[in-house]
Amino acid sequence: MSLYRDEGVVLRTHKLGEADRIITVLTKRTGKIRGVAKGVRRTTSRFGARLEPFTHVDLQLHTGRTLDVVTQVETIHPYGEALVADYPRYTAGIAMLETADRLIVGEKEPALRQFLLLVGGLRALAAAEHEARLVLDAYFLRSLAVAGYAPALDTCARCQATAVRAFAIVAGGVVCGNCRPAGAAVPEGETLTLMLALLKGDWAVADASESRHRTECSGLVAAYLQWHLEHGIRSLRHVEREPAT
Ligand SMILES: [Zn+2]
Repeated sequence: MSLYRDEGVVLRTHKLGEADRIITVLTKRTGKIRGVAKGVRRTTSRFGARLEPFTHVDLQLHTGRTLDVVTQVETIHPYGEALVADYPRYTAGIAMLETADRLIVGEKEPALRQFLLLVGGLRALAAAEHEARLVLDAYFLRSLAVAGYAPALDTCARCQATAVRAFAIVAGGVVCGNCRPAGAAVPEGETLTLMLALLKGDWAVADASESRHRTECSGLVAAYLQWHLEHGIRSLRHVEREPAT
């Protein structure tokens, strides 16, 4: 057996036997890993609550034949503590963890940009500097882009014409009047401007957007994300789509 060390964000956990837990972690250098945390559900566990979803941890693991075994855990940042008291932020965070888990299919394949996006997204949620759904939609758009599914937002996805009229998931983003397939959504121009700002990280534009455009943007981004994953993101059902007024 060999030892390795990495830092990562705990994506999910599930019970194994009487006292153990399997944890899925998106790490900085190794990519997505699954490991066994032995005895973690006992009250005397030295790992305590450090191996909970959202926690940014520093880990040491033994390489095992099937699953690696966690031997040391240090907390770098407990993002869950800031999120658990705020329902919109918590549900947005859960949707981020689930999306990261679903977009990164292979284990132990380095995914540094996805790791950095996830940590950045959780930090922004915890800091509460922007509305939770804006942070979530920015995370969705950017993680899709890193995965190779960036939507076309300024020129037609099919012919690159600059006069775009509609948003068509099947076409891969905005489309012109000629390329527009039946049933394409026709969002307001400000909604497309918001989507582009979120993809680029232009927060001055995003924070100044109107609520109705944020709502329309969230609907389009969620539909686009769902299309690009084989199955729906379950936790999206709980994300609040309406303004919290
Ligand atoms: Zn076109």
